[in-house]
Amino acid sequence: MRTDIMGVSFDDLTLGEAVATGATLARTPGLSYVVTPNPEIVNLARQSQDYQKLLNAADLVLPDGIGVVYAAKLLGTPLKGRVPGIDFASGLLGELAGSGEALYLLGGKPGVAEQAAENLKQTYPGLHICGTHDGYFQDNEAVAAQIKAAGAKVVFVCLGAPKQEWWISRHGAATGAQLMVGLGGALDVYAGTVKRAPEAWQKLGLEWCYRLLHQPSRVGRMAKLPLFLVQAAAQKGRGRT
Ligand code: UDP
Repeated sequence: MRTDIMGVSFDDLTLGEAVATGATLARTPGLSYVVTPNPEIVNLARQSQDYQKLLNAADLVLPDGIGVVYAAKLLGTPLKGRVPGIDFASGLLGELAGSGEALYLLGGKPGVAEQAAENLKQTYPGLHICGTHDGYFQDNEAVAAQIKAAGAKVVFVCLGAPKQEWWISRHGAATGAQLMVGLGGALDVYAGTVKRAPEAWQKLGLEWCYRLLHQPSRVGRMAKLPLFLVQAAAQKGRGRT
């Protein structure tokens, strides 16, 4: 059962349920993938049917932003809550540290994935990181082949949206991985180059505001968020829930 929010169908799961499902997918042969759309990504999907299909075909579609949760409420189909991609990733890291399945980190500026790997190995003893690569490369086939040669079971694909979802779709199978997760700027957070909002801000649903204060260049992207909620209200008004 999924909940449609402006054309993207979200799984209605708690964080714990999402992590448990992710851990199962990581152990299951064949490629699965997880997407973590925020309002910006939902808006991108409204402009491209192919991208919308790609998101909806994911094995898990998790509501990353508080805006998605508000929109769900406005549409009369509330979700259990927000499942931020980074929290899903952290839960999964705990599972991988226990199981020993190999993880590959792809994305970010040169040096970011390596630094993230160093930090994660400290935080999650037992975590097996089998390789890293920055997100600024030309030869997609070569990178997919490197991931395969490294023996990765799980790949965190952090190339920003929509690039990361398209990369999974076009090159995921060639990596031989069983689970790929599109995680935007997560490696920047794990590397310590971008700080997450303090927990109190997160609980109040104000992570976006903290991010805006620290990365004011995002103002153009974020100005679209109120419009997203207006559009959700309009969709409800038209009875298309
Ligand atoms: N990025 C990348 N390759 C690219 C474009 C972006 O690796 O060609 C990385 C970028 O360095 C950053 C992440 O993708 O680490 C995107 O971060 P952003 O904050 O835009 O993503 P969000 O978390 O908002 O989805």
